[in-house]
Amino acid sequence: MKFVFVAALVCTLAPSIAAADCGPVPHAANDYNALSRFWGTTVSLCRAPDGTGNAYADRDHGVVWADQAWLDGVASRYGSWAAVGILAHEWGHIVQGNVGSGTAAELQADCLAGVFMRGAGLAPESVREFAAVNWNEGGDPYWTPDGHGTSSQRVTAALRGYSGFQGQPPGALAALCPLSAF
Ligand SMILES: [Zn+2]
Repeated sequence: MKFVFVAALVCTLAPSIAAADCGPVPHAANDYNALSRFWGTTVSLCRAPDGTGNAYADRDHGVVWADQAWLDGVASRYGSWAAVGILAHEWGHIVQGNVGSGTAAELQADCLAGVFMRGAGLAPESVREFAAVNWNEGGDPYWTPDGHGTSSQRVTAALRGYSGFQGQPPGALAALCPLSAF
């Protein structure tokens, strides 16, 4: 099952890398299973080249890429749930459908990450760790239409998803996590 909030322009959030280059991401094996189960996705999680320093979603090909060493670093600095949140944000991009890119899509993905954390039964500390990494490193200094949103917006979006999810069906999630700046 794949959830589509808004059908709009096709957008690639990440450069495509040949599927043959897909390697496992051992750091995130358990998270991958939990995300797949919660969202009902069959997305592949592939190891990005070392030094990429990021995680990103290729919606066109249904692939999430993650730099293993970078995830390890995030986990050691902010806690393992912070790394989970980053992957959950990428899954947010996958399940939000082709809604374009820009701040509104980024903040919706943050909100959907919070939804996953609550829905998967993770403790409130989980979303706080995710919020912390976004507060310190994930936010843009100023709001721009094509950015990730400010630190404050990102934290608000993730907390809204976590605190507001009460098992509502996918069709109702667009109300909780709207495609708009928070
Ligand atoms: Zn994103």
